[in-house]
Amino acid sequence: MKHLNRRDFIRALGFTSLAAGGMGRVLADPIHEGSQVVEGITASARGAAAFLEDGKVIQPRREVPVFRDTDVLVVGGGTAGVVAALAARRAGVNTTLVERYGCFGGLWTAGLVLIVLCTHVPGEGKRTKMVQGIGDEILARIHSQKHGAINYSADGPHDATTDPEVTKYVLARMLREEGVDIVLHSWVTNAILDGDAVRGVLFESKAGCMAIRAKVVIDATGDGDVFDAAGAESIPHVHRIGLVHRLGNVPEGNSPEGLNLGGATPIPGVRWVNMQGPQGDCLDVPTLTNCELDGREAIWNKLKQIQETPGYENVFLLDVASQLGVRASRTLVGTQELRLEETLEQKAYADVIGVGGTYSFLKNLPCAIPYGSLVPVRVDNLLASGRCVAADNTMLNYTRLIAPCMLTGQAAGAAAALAVQENCTPRNVDVAKLQGLLKAQGAYLG
Ligand SMILES: Cc1cc2nc3c(=O)[nH]c(=O)nc-3n(C[C@H](O)[C@H](O)[C@H](O)COP(=O)(O)OP(=O)(O)OC[C@H]3O[C@@H](n4cnc5c(N)ncnc54)[C@H](O)[C@@H]3O)c2cc1C
Repeated sequence: MKHLNRRDFIRALGFTSLAAGGMGRVLADPIHEGSQVVEGITASARGAAAFLEDGKVIQPRREVPVFRDTDVLVVGGGTAGVVAALAARRAGVNTTLVERYGCFGGLWTAGLVLIVLCTHVPGEGKRTKMVQGIGDEILARIHSQKHGAINYSADGPHDATTDPEVTKYVLARMLREEGVDIVLHSWVTNAILDGDAVRGVLFESKAGCMAIRAKVVIDATGDGDVFDAAGAESIPHVHRIGLVHRLGNVPEGNSPEGLNLGGATPIPGVRWVNMQGPQGDCLDVPTLTNCELDGREAIWNKLKQIQETPGYENVFLLDVASQLGVRASRTLVGTQELRLEETLEQKAYADVIGVGGTYSFLKNLPCAIPYGSLVPVRVDNLLASGRCVAADNTMLNYTRLIAPCMLTGQAAGAAAALAVQENCTPRNVDVAKLQGLLKAQGAYLG
């Protein structure tokens, strides 16, 4: 057999890029321009291939390499996940954030959903801002950037609309400034369980399957991927699935009847166009595939109609969302559920962790959110945040909006940090201490 030197051996394994988790060291001898060999890889994390046994696909049992240990692990870098990671880190614990894509913001950025609803309630003559704390700090930073946001104010009549690229930049900047450990391009696929307690997750990446062990895990995937994997009870939902896009070169002024040119953005001539889309099971791969393909065709057909309209010939398709517009898929069965009747009665929750602005069906009222809507009934060391928290069928159309996701994100991050520091499970966190921490982080609790 031909003897392979070390470099040939590594090339034969297929490792020609950086090793997972920065474990590898780039050698200074390029094979050819633009490519370098990596030293320090011990084993592929992929494990042995699956095999067929009696026609069934079997995965071999094996030890999974541990990529990292952390105090708090946040899975999903959308609105809720980023705010959760910032809250946990600011409370003083090691925090890791894992995201399947290459940017932060989730539906707010990659999904091109640009208007931040539910930050305010109407007041006498002017509106009052309810969403404060880390969420508002993020909005203020986005607004401070050129073309970052329009309509951002303490008491203005309109909701803020943000630029997706500025938002991605600001979110990443803030996470890095705070010292959150960031893991991108990594898709969490399973939970690590010890009885009813979550001890971490498994994730897949180009380097194979690896584990992250954590004291507390926050599910900010939007779809409850982690709590579902951990066996926590959840409710499946069917909802409309849209595909948002942006148009460029749109003339100023009122658009002709029947031509949906969407809403204004911080960039002149650029508008964002929401899409209701068909109702479907947001966890079903063929459904998601069809929504993506049909959505793109619909956008191009509509563009043709716009370009055939006199005065609008030069409108072009700037971009289509890289994250499909899934509104709801799974919600947690929490120790409490946010309910419409209770919100309309303005029930005072002893464990309130945030108060958000109003929404159409809330009749101009603010919305208090209880801690119990983040806490699974049975599984420990796990919290939910964002659009998958416990809420009834109406209120999930509130908790899934961007500003409420900021509130549940901050609460989950602060509670997870407190659980680590007090050496208790999140369900046993001292609520008064949690509320104190949230207030210290600028949150408004009513
Ligand atoms: C078409 C549409 C229009 C909307 N319009 C508005 C509006 O006008 N105003 C408003 O305020 N809200 C609106 N919303 C709702 C709002 O945008 C989202 O519900 C909200 O942004 C969700 O935030 P999140 O952090 O909970 O989830 P997401 O934004 O979905 O973030 C989840 C993150 O987790 C990552 N992730 C998921 N699974 C995994 C995994 N297994 N491993 C690793 N990473 C994972 C994702 O890539 C993503 O970054 C709209 C939603 C849709 C779909």
